[in-house]
Amino acid sequence: MITISRSLADVAADVRGCTRCGLCKGRKLAVPGEGPAPSELMFIGEGPGFHENEQGRPFVGPAGKFLQQLLASIGLTRQQVFIANVVKCRPPGNRDPLPEEIAACATFLDEQIAIVRPKVIVTLGRFSMARWFQGESISRIHGQPKNFGGQWVFPCFHPAAALHQEKFRSLIEADFLKIPALLASIAPAEEPLPIEEPPQQLALF
Ligand code: URA
Repeated sequence: MITISRSLADVAADVRGCTRCGLCKGRKLAVPGEGPAPSELMFIGEGPGFHENEQGRPFVGPAGKFLQQLLASIGLTRQQVFIANVVKCRPPGNRDPLPEEIAACATFLDEQIAIVRPKVIVTLGRFSMARWFQGESISRIHGQPKNFGGQWVFPCFHPAAALHQEKFRSLIEADFLKIPALLASIAPAEEPLPIEEPPQQLALF
């Protein structure tokens, strides 16, 4: 359980100064993630690549361009959603993030999710999928939303995989088209009830 006394800017500042794992040594810029809070949709990728490491922003390279097209296909812009990654610093040579790197970054993502309060988290690729669907295969479960203790998670292929292999492109395109109906089917999150002030004590003299 996370107490939300911090803002996205606080989390981003911690990410930028983070030295919890070895990835900090090779980074040019950490990539905390960006978007509004609250936000109905949160996209979680794998980790920064070359362009993201240069600019300090998520999904700004070719995979990001494709993500923008996918968002446009459901009438959204990237400014309307929150975009983050499982690891916030670029793994050297774009290798897969290691379990200890993912673990070191996990509390940043936990905090971001708690602050953004998305109706649906869209996982992009196997590393963010594995955070919820342990031991599953993306080819088997993509496009099938599941509720984890009140949080809807929608697993999708990674846009970069779709750029490299044509067969994944039509699958991720079709999966994205399911997102509006999924969002519409979920009731708005209940606002916390205001805390009632205790009745004022009468001063007796
Ligand atoms: N791939 C990712 O997983 N994340 C990015 O930010 C860019 C490419």
